[in-house]
Amino acid sequence: MRNEKEIVEIGIIGGTGSDITLENKKEMKVYTPYGCTSAAIIIGDFKGKKIAYFPRHGIGHSIPPHNLNYRANIWALKELGVKFIISPSAVGSLRLEHKKGKFILVDQYIDRTKKRFDTFYEGGQVCHIGQADPYCNYLNELFFESGKDIGIEIQKGGTYVCIEGPRFSTRSESKMFREWGGDVVGMTTYPEVVLSAEKEICYCCISMVTDLDVWAGECPKCGVVEYGNLCKECGSSINKLEVNVPEVLETISRNAANLKKILEITITKIDTKRDCSCFHTLSDAII
Ligand SMILES: [Zn+2]
Ligand SMILES: [Zn+2]
Repeated sequence: MRNEKEIVEIGIIGGTGSDITLENKKEMKVYTPYGCTSAAIIIGDFKGKKIAYFPRHGIGHSIPPHNLNYRANIWALKELGVKFIISPSAVGSLRLEHKKGKFILVDQYIDRTKKRFDTFYEGGQVCHIGQADPYCNYLNELFFESGKDIGIEIQKGGTYVCIEGPRFSTRSESKMFREWGGDVVGMTTYPEVVLSAEKEICYCCISMVTDLDVWAGECPKCGVVEYGNLCKECGSSINKLEVNVPEVLETISRNAANLKKILEITITKIDTKRDCSCFHTLSDAII
């Protein structure tokens, strides 16, 4: 039996900006039925809370989104006792109003991934997990309040289109995602979100807008508009905008301080003793 005091309650699956400063740090390897986590898990204290952290893409950002061992990552956090997972994610914007640097606490996703293991229930026991409201509203609410307190641009609610990657979208795909009602496009929330639900863990995805994806173009008169041959507003020809890795990395590093701040403030507010509907997702899901 694990000592009660040793139980970790909050997990962060992160990257740049989410490596908050922990005390009494130790590194732990967790063995899972699915193989290795992205990296050894760092466990430590932050203002009275026990935190587990690991970089999603491994040490030195070496594992691409489509090859992440999502099941091992979520299984390991559950094994450590984690009840709340916080998962920052760099995303492209699908809406003009979601400018670079904005944070969006998504509450819906559209799954466009193709080759990922997205369940712990492979047969024998059959589980149909509900996903009508897949993200934890309690965590979203806390992060939203913290974001407003520190004066960053933040929105509660939005739809995350999760693509397989590792490539970025075509212009046609990007426009289609807009028509579907997508707010942002990224490569990692799925299947983290559904695997967390199957383990009855609260899961929250803080999406950080790093670019405008490829639906957008720049009209010399009207600014950023949907890309096409001519501007629908004024008829001018439109300059193409493209998404590329240097742009994404540059925005992430500019936002790292804000991410760190919102994480630190919100973590202190999480009431780890409270009950949440996320802890009961299996009660009506198993046949
Ligand atoms: Zn919850
Ligand atoms: Zn125009």
